[in-house]
Amino acid sequence: MWHLPSPAGWCPGDTLPLATCERCVGGELLFAPRPDFRFIGGVFTLTVLGSGSAGNCALVTTDHCRILVDAGLSARQTNERLAALGVAPEQLDGVLLTHEHGDHSRALDVLCRRFRDVPIYCNALTAEILRRDSECLKKHLHWRVFTTGTDFEIKDVAVQTFAVPHDAVEPVGYMFHHGRAALGYLTDLGFATKLVHERVRHATTLLIETNHDTALLNADTKRPWSVKQRITSRHGHLSNEAAAAVVAQLLAGGAKLRRAVLGHLSRDCNRPELAIETVRTQGGEGAAELEIIVASQNESSARYVVEERPVEPAPVPEPENAGRVGEETPPRVVRRRSDLLQLDLFGASRS
Ligand SMILES: [Zn+2]
Ligand SMILES: [Zn+2]
Repeated sequence: MWHLPSPAGWCPGDTLPLATCERCVGGELLFAPRPDFRFIGGVFTLTVLGSGSAGNCALVTTDHCRILVDAGLSARQTNERLAALGVAPEQLDGVLLTHEHGDHSRALDVLCRRFRDVPIYCNALTAEILRRDSECLKKHLHWRVFTTGTDFEIKDVAVQTFAVPHDAVEPVGYMFHHGRAALGYLTDLGFATKLVHERVRHATTLLIETNHDTALLNADTKRPWSVKQRITSRHGHLSNEAAAAVVAQLLAGGAKLRRAVLGHLSRDCNRPELAIETVRTQGGEGAAELEIIVASQNESSARYVVEERPVEPAPVPEPENAGRVGEETPPRVVRRRSDLLQLDLFGASRS
């Protein structure tokens, strides 16, 4: 039996108990929202408020939900750029953090005075290190601490979390799903693991870091050798070439990627035109048709509508002895229950 996609775009576990779902047997499950998940519909968008080595912040919205991803611009810049989009910080439905580095969390301390009721989503080690150095964050009442690898929902957006290799305490990447629209968020990673490829392969829009051009980094005289080693290590940052290789592998695997938003460009060791050219020319077959944009450090991007994945045809019964050619494999993601914890003032946790 083949379960058709639910209104939220996934099958099958949201309509059948796990034990009775044939596709769930054996542990290979499709990503499915919890039964109480409400997919409302509407436009799903990404706006990068700013991206680069000096600070990273993006707004993901639906008609009913506003999520800030990272808070690495100054609080003033964040407020101003949100205001230009008609959003006040206290109207956010959540702030999601990829990791604790200052260029991803700088504004949190000041912003949390404004958004007392806005939940901050991150994993335990990231929460611990951020709370350690900030009285305001220690007092913040709405921490949603997830276990890396689990899935959860914020209003009508389903969020998948996955580990990425980077020199932070517990860095993560995200996949955001809204119906059949899927947005991958990959920043600050030394290389793309198999897990990373697996998680983002259904994205129609992918934000991916293109931190540096390898030749420009090698020629740079400001950075000592040790810093260059850190940047290019397996826990550093993706170069233009490495990001292009991720795109190439996704496209070669039949990904429905329509748009790549390049981010986290080094001011000294990269240039937007180099990043675009590298992804265009080394992104493999299909990269020529890809919309490729570079996010700026100094201003918000346009508001990009994340497109829906094409509906995959339901498999038709095949005559006996026929080959199984052309059948598309739907997304297969191990399902785990959402595991958010609410931390109280004193660091004790309750579910
Ligand atoms: Zn960073
Ligand atoms: Zn970082």
